[in-house]
Amino acid sequence: MYEFEIKTGKITIDQDKCKDCTSFACVKACSAFGRQILRLEGHKPILSTSLDDAKRICNECLCCELYCKFDGRDAVRISLPMPELVEYRRKMGLEK
Ligand code: SF4
Ligand code: SF4
Repeated sequence: MYEFEIKTGKITIDQDKCKDCTSFACVKACSAFGRQILRLEGHKPILSTSLDDAKRICNECLCCELYCKFDGRDAVRISLPMPELVEYRRKMGLEK
């Protein structure tokens, strides 16, 4: 697993799935809608920036995950924890 932190969460890429990918939709989407922080190395998407810069620059547009899901191999997971939302739902009785 290839993983890096972003401002409010992290992005995980299961690069094993990328070897059969022909679209490289994640890199294209990051270039078109994101901040151009992904590039290909061989058949694998990796950061084109340092880990610190990725955390600062990524705009959390979610496009790498969405485009990989529909045009790639569903290899990207973006995790954005929202503890305030969980607490709000708990207060509203929507969550135990
Ligand atoms: S689109 Fe998905 S499967 Fe294809 S290279 Fe990117 S992360 Fe890997
Ligand atoms: S969330 Fe957006 S800016 Fe961040 S890596 Fe994915 S496509 Fe690029």
